[in-house]
Amino acid sequence: MSTMDVSRRPSKPAAAAGSSLDAKSKHSPSPLKYYADEDPSLKVPAFLYLVNASAICAFFTLLYYLLSRWREKIRSASPLHVLSAPELAAILAFAASSVYLLGFFGVEFFQSLLLRPPSDIWADDGEEERVVSVVAEEGALKAPCGQALDEETTKLEFDPVKPAAPKAKPVETEKWDEPIGLTEEDEKVIASVVAGTTPSYSLESKLGDCRRAAAIRREALQRKTGKSLAGLPLEGLDYDSILGQCCEMPVGYVQIPVGIAGPLVLDGREYSVPMATTEGCLVASANRGCKAIALCGGASSVVLRDGMTRAPVVRFGSAKRAAELKFYLESPANFEVLSSVFNSSSRFGRLQSIKCAIAGKNLYLRFSCSTGDAMGMNMISKGVQNVMDFLQKDFPDMDVMGISGNFCSDKKPAAVNWIEGRGKSVVCEAVIKGDVVRKVLKTSVEALVELNMLKNLTGSAMAGALGGFNAHASNIVTAIYIATGQDPAQNVESSHCITMMEAVNDGKDLHVSVTMPSIEVGTVGGGTQLASQSACLNLLGVKGANREAPGSNSRLLATVVAGLVLAGELSLMSALAAGQLVKSHMKYNRANKDVSKVSS
Ligand code: ADP
Repeated sequence: MSTMDVSRRPSKPAAAAGSSLDAKSKHSPSPLKYYADEDPSLKVPAFLYLVNASAICAFFTLLYYLLSRWREKIRSASPLHVLSAPELAAILAFAASSVYLLGFFGVEFFQSLLLRPPSDIWADDGEEERVVSVVAEEGALKAPCGQALDEETTKLEFDPVKPAAPKAKPVETEKWDEPIGLTEEDEKVIASVVAGTTPSYSLESKLGDCRRAAAIRREALQRKTGKSLAGLPLEGLDYDSILGQCCEMPVGYVQIPVGIAGPLVLDGREYSVPMATTEGCLVASANRGCKAIALCGGASSVVLRDGMTRAPVVRFGSAKRAAELKFYLESPANFEVLSSVFNSSSRFGRLQSIKCAIAGKNLYLRFSCSTGDAMGMNMISKGVQNVMDFLQKDFPDMDVMGISGNFCSDKKPAAVNWIEGRGKSVVCEAVIKGDVVRKVLKTSVEALVELNMLKNLTGSAMAGALGGFNAHASNIVTAIYIATGQDPAQNVESSHCITMMEAVNDGKDLHVSVTMPSIEVGTVGGGTQLASQSACLNLLGVKGANREAPGSNSRLLATVVAGLVLAGELSLMSALAAGQLVKSHMKYNRANKDVSKVSS
């Protein structure tokens, strides 16, 4: 039994000393109190308190009696070993109460002394214990992993934490999980990686076996750092599939649960949308939004624009020369030439425009191109490089300072994406009937319209938001991105969204829309080809390249993202309007397993 165990389980002494604990817990809720509250099986029966109290009273009364008898015998010089009947009975009762108390309180005490792990045991154990004790001592109001319908909840901090996963099996940290089947040859390679003779990054090319390379790297890492990777799985991933594409120097993979929201009824079709998340309530919330949308005939969407961007920065000797290149690029005749140079780099990349911005003698050229079903960063970078090489002939004094000059703008909040768009620009709308707003969303059209104005429009304006005129678009975007193998770092601009709500049909129904100018998704390339991510794309019917109409799979995926964002916005806004947020979180964070209870 580890110290974690001791602190998590109500030990008998602690339970027996319930009165003092109770007094203490008025100031600082103890882990014991949490468990007793949550799990009635952990409560100590009342009669045990009585038995313990009687045993303690008997112990001390008998001890006092025997000691006073002993003192009298010494004073009167009577032999100590000659016992009267009451004395004999008192000795026997004293022994009995001692055995009982020792049995009840003593065993766990001695066990905890004997089995306490050394202080230098794995850092993560200590870390976890500290967290538990901080929670216990400070009564910290911080939720565990499943906590939010949106960013709001972290701020609200209303849910007292359950000390992390009380019933989870403690991680075995004393010994790490050595990969099965290490050969003598492997041991030699591990030793040479640990000694620094073989670079860890070279294992794949040296061994020609990606799984073996990962196993050896992992083992060498554990030995070198003295830290266990138990809990981070090694088996179950095709290491060949990530080589040179998705991740270097792999030692395992992180597991993220995938939940399904839906059916999302969008443009006359139904989608079951996979969401990879560790945030409680999120899938249930999106699911509730889907239900409201479906009951009103579904949502509809339009892809307004489809073009990935890349913006190199070039420098000249003067602002005049920079301006000359700007005018050159803006001439339609030159654009024809440049687009044929650009397009020769790929079957799918097609140049759409080059927008220029000058800063002194520096020029930023924002190329935009369609990229088929790929998200397109690699594709556009190749095309841009071709054009820059071509331009160098006519502008030999041009210094290409960087193929990306941040006017693109990738993975950073930027007004240029919000205004001009990047990737797919999508608008998605639905009309939600008044009675669905009341029965499913448990609020009113009026309350939703007012809250949307106050929160998503005015509140965000007060905060100086850039594309953040929504309740929690990034929650939905990121969960779909992780599930379907998109680049999760692009959630920054992909989550730009303005949510609008208006009363229609004489104020009876709700018109709701989300406008998202920068959804950056692909169904080929990057992480989309990995087994799990590809299964999620398959579920949506957008796996891989669309041969008949290149680009239609990725555009469809972008509309699904916007559709689920619409569902998420509806549900969270309704929860806030109805004051349900706290209730729903209390339910989930109290480990209510039945999702339907909250979503219905
Ligand atoms: P990204 O540009 O998003 O980083 P990659 O360059 O890694 O993506 O992957 C795109 C690759 O997929 C290109 O080599 C492209 O030729 C190929 N491809 C095959 N079919 C398609 C399609 N329908 N749309 C886009 N790319 C496709």
